[in-house]
Amino acid sequence: MAKITLRSRLFLSHLAVMAVGIITLVIIGRLYSPRLFVISLERYENGVLSVQRHRTQLVKGFEAAWSRGMLWAILMGGSTAAGLSYWVSRWIIRPLDQMEDVTRLFASGQLSERVPPSEIMEIQRLANSFNRMATDLENVEQRRRELIGDLTHELRTPLTILHGYLEGLADGAVPAETDLYQRLADETTRLQRLVNDLQELSKLEAGYLPIQTQTVELSALLTGLVRAFADQFASDDRVILTLDCPEDLPAVCADPIRVEQIMINLLSNALRYTEKGRVTVTAWPDNRRVYISIADTGIGIAEADLPYVFERFWRADRSRNRGSGGTGLGLTICRRLVEVQGGQIEVKSQVGEGSEFIFWLPQVD
Ligand code: ADP
Repeated sequence: MAKITLRSRLFLSHLAVMAVGIITLVIIGRLYSPRLFVISLERYENGVLSVQRHRTQLVKGFEAAWSRGMLWAILMGGSTAAGLSYWVSRWIIRPLDQMEDVTRLFASGQLSERVPPSEIMEIQRLANSFNRMATDLENVEQRRRELIGDLTHELRTPLTILHGYLEGLADGAVPAETDLYQRLADETTRLQRLVNDLQELSKLEAGYLPIQTQTVELSALLTGLVRAFADQFASDDRVILTLDCPEDLPAVCADPIRVEQIMINLLSNALRYTEKGRVTVTAWPDNRRVYISIADTGIGIAEADLPYVFERFWRADRSRNRGSGGTGLGLTICRRLVEVQGGQIEVKSQVGEGSEFIFWLPQVD
């Protein structure tokens, strides 16, 4: 059925009510009033003269017939028009009542409730936006539940370890050695990191993390960063870190602090997951974007795992990486940071061969 706008519907229904009123008035007026007048006339049927004589009574008779006719016309026309108005208003109000019921159910926690389709265009539009909002809220609620589930899981292991050792220390079952205290301190550091990362991620997702974009000369930023990392890892010769970046690399529109944060995350990962080999940072411009790649020759990531790499708390090997202090939030934060600056990030990897993380940022106009 074709959709009609609320405005045309109201206009048409008013017209219909008016037309019904007028038609009833005309029909009753035409059929009833002459008949009443004839009845009055029959009383004076004594010829022309008597009509003249009884003029006043005739006029009165006409008036009485007209008034009774009008009374009937008003009663019939009025009640038909009122009935029609009532029916039309119910027709218009019903979907609004339905919508009210659905919103009440939704507010009481039944998040799968949706407003049914309506043939009134304006109400359909309202229903569509309500349903869209309902789906978004349902997703947010779903993500909230998942986050709480993940978080509980992440917190349980370090807390169990801490609790177990502390209890052992308290009743003397575990000898108080420096190594043990170090292990306990490491677990609390990890918990601290987890809380900090979570706070950062939640700020990013809620849009509270301030991003101050400006013109950034990436070649200077990358050179400084790679030098700092190379100095840190120069003592052991296990990984060679190099930078391949043209001098005239176009500037990007980004927040330098956040770009540094992304780079530190990706470089730390590359160095953490590369036992021995090379880590290469490359930058190049293409199609008004500046691409940065961080490639390593490390352990790599299985193809089946690649779609999950940027997901919250995802780790290729949960227990091993937990030991290395990772929170599983680093890459999730990286992706959000790249996206809020208008870019994108992707990963390519092969087990045993190495991984390459590539992201781009918009070039300055
Ligand atoms: P984490 O803090 O655990 O490193 P990330 O979000 O930074 O968390 O990384 C998630 C997981 O992705 C890591 O636990 C690891 O399994 C995998 N990963 C990240 N970077 C690399 C890399 N360069 N090489 C191999 N695996 C990686």
